[in-house]
Amino acid sequence: MSDEPSVASFQRSIEATFLERDRRRGLAGTFVWFVEEVGELARALKKGEPENLREEFGDVLAWLSSLASLAGVDLAQAAAPYRDGCPSCHRRPCGCPLKATPVGPF
Ligand SMILES: [Zn+2]
Repeated sequence: MSDEPSVASFQRSIEATFLERDRRRGLAGTFVWFVEEVGELARALKKGEPENLREEFGDVLAWLSSLASLAGVDLAQAAAPYRDGCPSCHRRPCGCPLKATPVGPF
């Protein structure tokens, strides 16, 4: 894997490393771990420590990738609608009106 992996090569690498274990855990159990990691990311965002933030973003990305693989979703295909700008307004940067945050304040 290069220093800047593509989404596809990242997913393949996570599969090579964890897919067997992820299959044994199952989709529901892996989803619970993903949510747990999102919770850790929320705490890291609150603290704002750069090294901790980088680690938690990496963990969330890895668990998201595991989840996608178990669900049979190719992350590169999932990301494709965003390749050429906003999937809604098709502009870059996005020109859509800001929506109210569903929960908050953070
Ligand atoms: Zn938009």
